[in-house]
Amino acid sequence: MTQEIKNQYDYVLPTYGRYPVAFVSAKDCRLWDDSGKEYIDFMSGIGVCSIGHAHPAWVAAITAQAGKLAHTSNLYHTEPGGKLAQRLCKLSGMSGAFFANSGAESTEGMIKIARKYSKDKYGSGQHTILTLEDSFHGRTLAALTATGQDKFHQHFDPFMPGFRHVPVNDIDALKKQGDDVCALLIEVIQGEGGVMPLDSEYVKQAAELCKERDWLLMIDEVQTGIGRTGRWFGFQDFDISPDVVSFAKGIAGGLPLGGFLVNKKLHNVLNPGDHATTYGGNLICCAAALATLDILEPILPQVSEKGDYIRKRIEAMNLPHVDSVRGKGLMIGIKIKDIPPGEINLKLLDAGLASLTAGTDVIRFLPPLVISKEDIDAGLEIFENVMKSI
Ligand code: PLP
Repeated sequence: MTQEIKNQYDYVLPTYGRYPVAFVSAKDCRLWDDSGKEYIDFMSGIGVCSIGHAHPAWVAAITAQAGKLAHTSNLYHTEPGGKLAQRLCKLSGMSGAFFANSGAESTEGMIKIARKYSKDKYGSGQHTILTLEDSFHGRTLAALTATGQDKFHQHFDPFMPGFRHVPVNDIDALKKQGDDVCALLIEVIQGEGGVMPLDSEYVKQAAELCKERDWLLMIDEVQTGIGRTGRWFGFQDFDISPDVVSFAKGIAGGLPLGGFLVNKKLHNVLNPGDHATTYGGNLICCAAALATLDILEPILPQVSEKGDYIRKRIEAMNLPHVDSVRGKGLMIGIKIKDIPPGEINLKLLDAGLASLTAGTDVIRFLPPLVISKEDIDAGLEIFENVMKSI
């Protein structure tokens, strides 16, 4: 990385632990830094660039929309906004969409609709949102309160009232919750928490309990959604019908867009003035999302195959520092036994593989969903060599 870029970052707040690399360009599943060094992308900008980089159809869609109309505010109807909402409802089986700009904002919207649904129906007092230990739902204050990891709860108190964290996969703990509850918010695979899939029996029983007690079942699909697990949404691998489903990250192939989908029961809970954001449903982001869905549609059936291939190959490597491999589709967690995963990641980066960590002991791969077998093999070869050298 050049000294010039380094110096410029003296003007950026030090809120991120950044690797000493500045990427300047990318194509498909390869990235290049400012010295011209090439990297294989096993991270997709943390699960965002699912269609790889600079996909011509995506670039064309964005460019055409920017040349036509970029933004109108939500005081008006727009063609890409309506089209995208309809498409997402078809893919998810839900009834309506709200567009936001990020995952955390999507969480905020879910919290608001749960509180309003409950207040409209039962009056005040039944406002508690249950979330799981080790969950992650974003960094705004309410989303942070919802997040079930104490390491995020250090400096910013007082946190918001009306949230309770319950143990993962523990249906009895869920049954013990009182009548102050209005919703259960879960990730079907806990991403930031360490790529931990929930037990399917737990998810099924939790969904039944939600129905019984009229708690909204809300699925945070910011990381698992839009094809990442091999289905359009991670919840579709379970026999459940959620009330609310969020999305962000991969939806617009690299542009900021998030939001949530609701079922028929909730379609008219939020009325004009109840919830809003200036940029939500921005036309360029929606056009990017429509192009992203077009690109993903034909390759979606390959995502599970590619993921299984990667998991099997890593297991077959018999690497001394690897405890186990888990995940679904192209959301892959490699539990490491005795080395901090951040240290491994630095070595991988040095060898030309950009990857991620999760939790305290997991290397996480979120490659673009369009990744070719050739790029998978090239990335795995780097991974194997690095892991065998340490
Ligand atoms: N929810 C989940 C499941 C996530 O994984 C994340 C981010 O990693 C978020 C919410 C927050 O998304 P954002 O960083 O876009 O606010």
